[in-house]
Amino acid sequence: MKITELNIMKYTFLFITLLCFTGIANAQDYWQQAVDYTMDIDFNHENHQFKGIQKLKYTNNSPDDLDKVFYHLYFNAFQPGSMMDVRSRNIPDPDKRVGDRISKLKPNEIGYQNIVSLTMDGIPTTFKTVGTILEVNLPKPIKAGETVTFDMVFQAQVPVQIRRSGRNNMEGIDYSMTQWYPKMSEYDKEGWHANPYVGREFHGVWGDFDVTIHMDNKYTIGGTGVLQNPGDIGKGYATEDVTPEPTENGKLRWHFKAENVHDFAWAADPDYVHDIKMLNNGTKIHFFYQVDSLIENWKNVQDYTVKSFEFVNANFGEYAYSDYSIIQGGDGGMEYPMATLITAHGSFKALVSVIVHESIHSWYQGMMATDESKYPWMDEGFTTYVQNLTLSHIYGTNPVNPNIRSQKGYVYLATVVEKEQEPLTTHADHYKKNMVYGISVYSKGAVFLDQMDYIVGHQAFMSGMMRYYNEWKFKHPTPDDFKRIMEKESGLELDWYFEQFIGTTNSINYAIVDVDKKDRNSTAIELKRIGEMPMPLDITVTLKDGGLKVYNVPLQIMRGEKTDTSVPGLMVVSEDWAWTNPTFTLCVDVKEKEIEKVEIDASMRMADTDRTDNVFPKVKK
Ligand SMILES: [Zn+2]
Repeated sequence: MKITELNIMKYTFLFITLLCFTGIANAQDYWQQAVDYTMDIDFNHENHQFKGIQKLKYTNNSPDDLDKVFYHLYFNAFQPGSMMDVRSRNIPDPDKRVGDRISKLKPNEIGYQNIVSLTMDGIPTTFKTVGTILEVNLPKPIKAGETVTFDMVFQAQVPVQIRRSGRNNMEGIDYSMTQWYPKMSEYDKEGWHANPYVGREFHGVWGDFDVTIHMDNKYTIGGTGVLQNPGDIGKGYATEDVTPEPTENGKLRWHFKAENVHDFAWAADPDYVHDIKMLNNGTKIHFFYQVDSLIENWKNVQDYTVKSFEFVNANFGEYAYSDYSIIQGGDGGMEYPMATLITAHGSFKALVSVIVHESIHSWYQGMMATDESKYPWMDEGFTTYVQNLTLSHIYGTNPVNPNIRSQKGYVYLATVVEKEQEPLTTHADHYKKNMVYGISVYSKGAVFLDQMDYIVGHQAFMSGMMRYYNEWKFKHPTPDDFKRIMEKESGLELDWYFEQFIGTTNSINYAIVDVDKKDRNSTAIELKRIGEMPMPLDITVTLKDGGLKVYNVPLQIMRGEKTDTSVPGLMVVSEDWAWTNPTFTLCVDVKEKEIEKVEIDASMRMADTDRTDNVFPKVKK
């Protein structure tokens, strides 16, 4: 058919329309729900119970009308027979902090959140508590784009400290108040995430919190947000001397606000010391801890914390809030927006490490709020990766690869306990073993980024991490969102890397089979892929005169090759390796007799499960 001028115009118009349409569609593709909580909490420390009044403005930014909503009632997990209790008593390697402890809780030791009343825009809702989830049928649908107000009255009892939250933790902190209020579940493009509280990981709605807590005068409170009335409270919050004046029932009124966060946590103890350390950019770091034999550690760790924040700010995007609180409490280390609860009765190095780790969660989950249940490797793995870099920076250790311990952990999983491996796409609660969960999401998750740096090149990787921060802070990024950023920064196609390393348990193992004279001036290096997972290779040739030559063998499916000036030696790009070929011959313009050593990935960033055959001549084990 002959294309007439009219047709050309028609097609051009159609083409432009399509372009515009997809352009707009992409920009508007992303949406997220919004919450605005106002809570008033009356706390009774004698029976460990509190009454809460919660006003929640909920904005439905989704394209869907919603006829129901779900709240999390996390404290209900701490009751005999709960899903968390049963899971812990049936998993082969239970978390020792939980074990069978929940099954033995007495009525005055359990946790609960009981809903007394719940209305939407003043009209009663019908609701049902099912374990740790409140199922709410709405009197009328919340239309797309509409904002409604939920008014709730609830009563709660703080459980004995078992996991994360609770009273009287192992170090004598009275109240670790995390997952403590009825919290709206997230609804996103994947639908509802009314995940029961079985073991781990959270996903929350972005919004603002205005929290007032009435609590006995003896307590000091640290938590998410910024205290609005330091002049009434003192206790380290005010610069001037303040003698707080309690109300007639002996309580103080604490008023906190936190903007653009997805959770709110706090802790209270009568013995807290409260120090504040200021970063150069004005961010206030609060430390809340008990004075005991470890006071030296608590004083010394403050400078390390400052160094850690400064390093992460400079390399991975600036911490976006005015305050951050490091609070003794909980049962190890757990991240919350603008705060962390940590235990401190270990070594000084362990204290530094846990503070560095938990504070880096302010980036990976705090600001880039991935769904931790579905993608735990994106918060724990990314955090561990940056933690490894940060610790190496603040101690000045400069190893060949700061992530080598994470890599060793992963290689152990991929070799020694290979049969127990599960892909990183596994939901956090569904891993068959805690051990496999731990090594997978922390260690393999860190290796994922370390290898990304290797695959796309250091400069593209670092600018990609910054772009990830700039484009996805205060949102809910998914693995695909991260993939697209790295693809755009590097110009490479990365589907294969995500599919193989996240979606399967395939592992990496390459070998140098032989290094042989090809002709007078060149040498043939015979490479072999032994593992199922393909990777691009950096080959370092060390010459007898001490010179270095580095060759890059790209994978054909990357549709390009990296530029990486961080690797010592001039990088020469070879032919692509089509991954189905088990072997590949790399010809180098070096005389065989001049070669001292040939090595695959001298940077040690690629998690090769058997490094002994990565070097030629082979080193003896
Ligand atoms: Zn973590």
